[in-house]
Amino acid sequence: DDSLSLTLPDESATLNLGARLAAVLRPGMTVYLSGDLGAGKTTLVRGLLRSLGFRGRVKSPTYTLVELYEVSSLNLYHFDLYRFADPVEWAEAGFREYFNAGSICLVEWPEKAAGLLPEPDLALRLSWAGEGRQAELVAYTEAGRRCIASLKT
Ligand code: ADP
Ligand code: MG
Repeated sequence: DDSLSLTLPDESATLNLGARLAAVLRPGMTVYLSGDLGAGKTTLVRGLLRSLGFRGRVKSPTYTLVELYEVSSLNLYHFDLYRFADPVEWAEAGFREYFNAGSICLVEWPEKAAGLLPEPDLALRLSWAGEGRQAELVAYTEAGRRCIASLKT
């Protein structure tokens, strides 16, 4: 199955979706996280990391662009590209190498680095639905489709 639509009535539902994703993501996967400021992208990453046992603070790496979490024997890179503008910086920082078979990459504002980022396995879009949110998850690879299938069971 290629897509999944979910209603997230409150913050805990977003945290819980992050936890459910944590259980199905595998090293080597890339997930795009889209949606306006305040949509819940970082909240979802927080839920994902907490479910893996991370106890510290999780905030958007708006100025540093990326944060590495080594948790539950995973290398998890959390990008926030909201302020990203310079393709030269992409090359110089070596961001390309962060997307490898041993890491999971979660990318907020992927559209800011269009053409530089690898294709995602999964793309998650969050939008407003009343007081809550709506999540649309789309798979772009076989690995992504397996994740969606697991989420549906
Ligand atoms: P983003 O990273 O997309 O800019 P944040 O996760 O930093 O957004 O902030 C999202 C805000 O919306 C937080 O205040 C959070 O508590 C709230 N929120 C997250 N998910 C939901 C939801 N499903 N329903 C209502 N509020 C939510
Ligand atoms: Mg954010």
